[in-house]
Amino acid sequence: MPIPLEPCANGSRVAVCCSGVTKTYGEGVTAMKALRGVNLEIHTGELMMLVGPSGCGKTTLISVIAGVLRRDGGDCSVFDNDYLEMAEVETTRFRGQNIGFVFQAFNLIPALTAAENVAAPLIINGVKRRSAVEQARELLVTVGFDDRMMRSLPQDLSGGQQQRVAIARAMAHNPRLIVCDEPTSALDSETGQMVMELMRRLALGKDRALLVVTHDTRIFGFADRIARMDDGRITRIETPPFAANGIPKQP
Ligand code: ADP
Ligand code: MG
Repeated sequence: MPIPLEPCANGSRVAVCCSGVTKTYGEGVTAMKALRGVNLEIHTGELMMLVGPSGCGKTTLISVIAGVLRRDGGDCSVFDNDYLEMAEVETTRFRGQNIGFVFQAFNLIPALTAAENVAAPLIINGVKRRSAVEQARELLVTVGFDDRMMRSLPQDLSGGQQQRVAIARAMAHNPRLIVCDEPTSALDSETGQMVMELMRRLALGKDRALLVVTHDTRIFGFADRIARMDDGRITRIETPPFAANGIPKQP
């Protein structure tokens, strides 16, 4: 039974609800308990940051939330849907329509131009090539790309430009939840700030939420809430009292 969506105090809704989520890699003596009972709720309109030491389970947790990794136990719903109740083909469709993923290493296809990289997932989702490229170009304009940059291959773009392409690609299908794994770790401070500003502006909205894994203390000010993770569990949820470096929290 799906959990009914409850309105939250400020009128937002529950986007992600994890309760007692567990995940173990391997078996027997080599078993690695990566998630040991994660409780976490993310609301729409919210940028939740997930921080914690290397190996504490951050990537595992966001992979479970994004539906690319099956949990072993506990409850997890994403916009009222439970991956364990879906057939694989349904999960793929749900992800294609609702979830965007931004990786640390950008993960762009080297042989495709910036515009083609953004258009590719749309084409896979059944959008006609011409209209996919048109949409890709519009998205790239919103992340500050000109014609020449759109025609460039990833190798001819800077790290910050590549990450902007990756963000545009993650947003191409207008997902309700964007999940980012250390999106600024390969970027210098100024570019990292710009990328976060862009994500807040483009990816947040009344019905949308953003989950960002980071080690990067320089971007904490962009969070609405920060979830601290240690040894497979969320140990604390904090609300930053003010935005770092005077950055406004609301777009
Ligand atoms: P984080 O992203 O916080 O660095 P991960 O979620 O990647 O942590 O990993 C959590 C733990 O699970 C680590 O001890 C890691 O070595 C282990 N782990 C991650 N992926 C696998 C895998 N595919 N097979 C076995 N162990 C894994
Ligand atoms: Mg990780």
